[in-house]
Amino acid sequence: MLEIKHTLCPSCSVGCGVNVVLHNGDVVGTYPYKRHQVNEGKNCLNGRNSIEIYKSKLETPLISNASVNFDKVIDEISGELKSCDSDKITVVCSGNNSVEEAEMIKDFAESNNYNIAFYADNFVNLNADVASYEDIENASNIIVIGDVLYDNPLIGRRIVHAKKNGANIYSCVQDKSVTANVSDEIFDSIEATLDKVDDSSVIVFNTIESGADLEKIYGADCKALPVFSKCNSKGVSSIIDPISKEDLIELLDKTDVLLIFNDDIVSEIDYDFGSISTLITLVPCLNSTSEVSKIVVPIKSWIENDGSFVNSMGETQNFKAAIESENLSEVEIIEKIQNKL
Ligand code: SF4
Repeated sequence: MLEIKHTLCPSCSVGCGVNVVLHNGDVVGTYPYKRHQVNEGKNCLNGRNSIEIYKSKLETPLISNASVNFDKVIDEISGELKSCDSDKITVVCSGNNSVEEAEMIKDFAESNNYNIAFYADNFVNLNADVASYEDIENASNIIVIGDVLYDNPLIGRRIVHAKKNGANIYSCVQDKSVTANVSDEIFDSIEATLDKVDDSSVIVFNTIESGADLEKIYGADCKALPVFSKCNSKGVSSIIDPISKEDLIELLDKTDVLLIFNDDIVSEIDYDFGSISTLITLVPCLNSTSEVSKIVVPIKSWIENDGSFVNSMGETQNFKAAIESENLSEVEIIEKIQNKL
């Protein structure tokens, strides 16, 4: 029997709805969520392929690549945590975590005096006027930093609509990028691009090199929309202050036990993770970080869980589990670890 379940796309922070197609309870595909107000019936390739990672779903806990049962892995994690000074333990939260999970991860880290880190594409929190998706369509000047049309096509679609309505598009991107194709002018520095800002402008950006670049963007006299690579980076930012790549590396340098919640920092950060004594990863599917971790714990993925994400413009979006799972949620696993400490 075929069934369609509504959920949210987990592949970037735009917050598009996506339908999961089930056949006799198994996930077999996705289909655009026609009535969803964010994407209005469209999903990009990343969104349509968002369940592909689910094919590498992890079902058994691993210690040094050997399968173990849940009791054993919880004992092993609590043993590692108890035998290490709390100031040498770092907990990494991720924009892949829901609001509810991030709150639990933060409480867990703080109540045990562990360090906590949240990395969100090198963005940090600054007070700024955030643009809505409608602001993009109504702007007469759009400043784009990063290849937003390629990376976040459902925001790109709104930029294209604005251009059809007469908006000028000024971009800081590479010449051969998708965004370059719709741009009226391309600049090779953020400063030069920001010179085009006027009071009818909106800045849309998905990449920055440094905190100084971020200050320039938020210092411009117009609204700005940061678009993150992970679905709930915006929501987690309001719970845990994101840190820069530099500050994260400084923290990793003084870490002996690294506990990573649903993230793949090994593929994001150029760092010698072999210098950290113990890596513990909680993930729904195998990734580069789980490959180098001593302990790997399977968790429910977003389609197996209830929760909420906050999209780029700050709207909270709730979702319900689309399928059942025998895996535990991060919240359940944290409770089990905490009971052993
Ligand atoms: S734009 Fe982002 S949220 Fe929307 S379908 Fe594509 S990857 Fe998913």
